[in-house]
Amino acid sequence: MADTIFTKIITGEIPCHRVYENEHVLAFLDINPISQGHTLVIPKEPAKTLDQLSDDSAEALGRSLPRIARAVLAATGATAFNVLQNNGLQAHQAVFHVHFHLIPKFDDGRTDAGLGIGWKPGALARDVGASLAKSIAARLTE
Ligand code: 5GP
Repeated sequence: MADTIFTKIITGEIPCHRVYENEHVLAFLDINPISQGHTLVIPKEPAKTLDQLSDDSAEALGRSLPRIARAVLAATGATAFNVLQNNGLQAHQAVFHVHFHLIPKFDDGRTDAGLGIGWKPGALARDVGASLAKSIAARLTE
């Protein structure tokens, strides 16, 4: 996989405001935050999208995310936050190295209020749901 800007941040070639690091994971402040404390949590493994990530990296991220979220909340005073994780161009991924956005939410009228979500709920027909769930389940080996 070609290097991305995040590879250079991992190696220290490009500076960042680092908030956490262990063997598998690095967390640092987003350079263009949409709210105070907007943090990126990335695996050191250079996988492009979440579905390409190894179990070791996934496990390490799963353990780190709640801990980093607690620290971001405590440091900013936010009481709510979104986790955003984009995969692929159509899903608004700009940097092709897996990353989780931790985006604090504030309800005090500030302009950098965090993530806005456009969500148009549909309806799931019973037969379509049954067939789709079966199809997905059949592709999961464990
Ligand atoms: P995506 O749309 O891929 O989910 O988001 C990529 C994020 O990476 C953006 O929020 C962007 O601001 C952030 N970003 C891009 N380049 C840099 C950089 O060099 N340093 C830091 N700290 N964040 C970056």
